[in-house]
Amino acid sequence: LANRAFHPEDTIIDVSGIPVGGGHMAMIAGPCSVESEEQVIDVAKAVKEAGANMLRGGAFKPRTSPYSFQGLGLEGLEMLCRAKEETGLPIVTELMSGEYLDIFDEKVDLIQIGARNMQNFDLLKQLGRTKRPILLKRGLNATYEEWIMSAEYIMASGNENVILCERGVRTFETYTRNTLDLQAIPVLKKMTHLPVVVDPSHAGGKWWLVDTMAKAALAAGTDGLMIEVHNNPDCALCDGGQSLKPEKYAVLLEQLRRIAPIV
Ligand code: PEP
Ligand code: MN
Repeated sequence: LANRAFHPEDTIIDVSGIPVGGGHMAMIAGPCSVESEEQVIDVAKAVKEAGANMLRGGAFKPRTSPYSFQGLGLEGLEMLCRAKEETGLPIVTELMSGEYLDIFDEKVDLIQIGARNMQNFDLLKQLGRTKRPILLKRGLNATYEEWIMSAEYIMASGNENVILCERGVRTFETYTRNTLDLQAIPVLKKMTHLPVVVDPSHAGGKWWLVDTMAKAALAAGTDGLMIEVHNNPDCALCDGGQSLKPEKYAVLLEQLRRIAPIV
């Protein structure tokens, strides 16, 4: 279903009125985790002002350690909804369990499936119960074929609204969190007709790498960028070291506009 051979034109996914793919960019920004209503509304207003067209924020967080902040859960989701009311930005947030699918179907504009769940086949099959678009992140060590097969699971279950997200893969290098695979953009666009967006924040794991890699992704033909933005990165409960301050995000978007049309 994802194969370009049977569907030569680029698929454009409609995220609550925002087209993504075929020349339309998803500019997704926001904190790694929703920490409070004030925090997420502040960041939402700032990224909207900078030119973002979607707000991200984790309510359910897949953390490596069980002792790390696990997210505010449904309370966090309500805060995202408040930020959407304030700004009009569609919301993007991660679903970790089928248990919450119905409530996500009702409230979330773009449902994120994280790298760690890319091959949670039971969860992927359940996504056929919603028509909400799905942002499918690439697994930490997934090949292109494995990633496409995961998209295929979602599409075959009845939901063809899939956007792929390259977020870096694990390599022998430990200086950066992951290694951004820029080749994934042209390869996945050749193999599939689905939009491909890039998350340079989780790829490099360092805020100062985001700018360069975002520009590189744009030059390589990405259909969007998902970037972590926090109003006080030093105190962030999750991923502060890779988060841009809102001012830096605004400068980046200004520079990106000079390379290619974004939004
Ligand atoms: C995230 O987007 O906050 C996240 C946890 O990303 P990934 O699943 O790519 O690690
Ligand atoms: Mn994060």
